[in-house]
Amino acid sequence: MKKDRLLVSLACALALVACGEKKEASYRMDYVVGLDTAGHYVLVDLDMEVAPGTGSVTLNMPRWTPGYYEMLDFPKHLCDFDAADAAGNALDWEKEGMNRWKVTVPGDGKLKVNYRIFANRRDVGSSRVDGGIAFISPAGVFMHRDGDLQHPVSVRFDLPEGWEKISSGLLPVEGTTDTFRADDFDRLYDCPFLLGNYYTCDFEHEGHPYHFAIETPEGIEESGFREDFCKIVSAATRLMGEVPYDNYCLIHMGAGGGGLEHWNSQACYTDGTYRFENRSHQVSFLAFTAHEYFHLYNVKCIRPAELWPFNYDIEAVTPMLWVSEGLTCYYEFRLLRTSGVATPDEALEKLSGYFARYAPYEGQHHMSLRQSSYDIWLNFMNMDENERDVRINYYFKGPVVGLLMDIDIRRHTGQEKSLDDVMRALYNRYYKELRKGFTEEEFWQEVEKVYGGPVPHLRALVNTTGDIDYDSYLRDAGLYVDTESWAVRRVENPTPAQAAFLESMEMT
Ligand SMILES: [Zn+2]
Repeated sequence: MKKDRLLVSLACALALVACGEKKEASYRMDYVVGLDTAGHYVLVDLDMEVAPGTGSVTLNMPRWTPGYYEMLDFPKHLCDFDAADAAGNALDWEKEGMNRWKVTVPGDGKLKVNYRIFANRRDVGSSRVDGGIAFISPAGVFMHRDGDLQHPVSVRFDLPEGWEKISSGLLPVEGTTDTFRADDFDRLYDCPFLLGNYYTCDFEHEGHPYHFAIETPEGIEESGFREDFCKIVSAATRLMGEVPYDNYCLIHMGAGGGGLEHWNSQACYTDGTYRFENRSHQVSFLAFTAHEYFHLYNVKCIRPAELWPFNYDIEAVTPMLWVSEGLTCYYEFRLLRTSGVATPDEALEKLSGYFARYAPYEGQHHMSLRQSSYDIWLNFMNMDENERDVRINYYFKGPVVGLLMDIDIRRHTGQEKSLDDVMRALYNRYYKELRKGFTEEEFWQEVEKVYGGPVPHLRALVNTTGDIDYDSYLRDAGLYVDTESWAVRRVENPTPAQAAFLESMEMT
């Protein structure tokens, strides 16, 4: 995700597919969701059937949502939990800890649970119900049976009168427009929904269907946003070799901050308009969109080992968010250029913004990039007054280190390889072949394979807090950084070698 775009430029089916084989699900969970638009509530009804004689079931609501590295503690927005049998007779229940509800199950195994979620926050991790629109962040709305995320679930939306649209990466069950089914809760929790009346646009690009759901579409047609988005998709496909989804859904909401990547969608708050104040603002928005899009590869597929499978009860602590987030920020810069939606100078301006947000500050000598990844669950929204003196943020130093790594791999391999080869290797080996996340050492092994030898100097950029000699990297690439403004620029009279390097990075 990106916590603040302005700062940095985030079944009722009884058949269960597991390990490629279908097996019988032993219980059923069907949700019906209504809305109280005046009170800003999501109204949740769960119809559940477990084996007769089960005794009790424990329902669990996540404490955080994928991509948002902060404990949002969703149960704090829940009220009026209630449980009844099929005839409507109240069932006993009790809380177990912060996010578990243990319900006594009647003899026939059939129970109904209902509760309300207060939903009035404008951040991409949280749900919002307004007069004419609702955003559903599923991790904060739906409960799974404790300990069993790998279970199918269905959701039907009972929309207010006059509400016409439902948008999500999940597609409606065939023959319906309001019912959705996920093979497991990990998928449901990573597929947000937009409900109501808003601008939509459906189109196909390179063989895949795309759905735009836009709350405040002012200026979208004239801005060329859709065309630019398609160019970014094509550039990312050329880079990685394929798209990792069947269909893609882009949810852009009104004025607010932050964007969040999802399984086959992105959900972002925007400036509330596509009539950008100036070209720089427009390029920032394209970089923001490219960031959330590239996460489809880098974090949804290319995953640090600690980021899969998820335990939504506790923090997913990893020293590698600088890879998942920092390198994704670097690929904003790359995709702006390889897609052609920005000029070299426009792309460099965005990269310069990252230098300027960490390089002038003392915090770089107190916290390594690795440590900033590890501690993000403490510091995601921790704006202590001494923040810049003692900490760094991987969103800022990460893309700078990405640039230095990319340049270093290119020059060491005589332009035969680049950071792109590392990303492709991680995607092909760990996502497609091994179907697992990579450890920190496995990440460096892939870098060293592409580089063709040990990389202690690159490891030091990540693991230590010493001064970085930027010029020793940038000069060969025909770039330099002005240490007054921290702007990255192309050298004025490049040598033939520098000119060739700039061309290899599509910077001419
Ligand atoms: Zn991100």
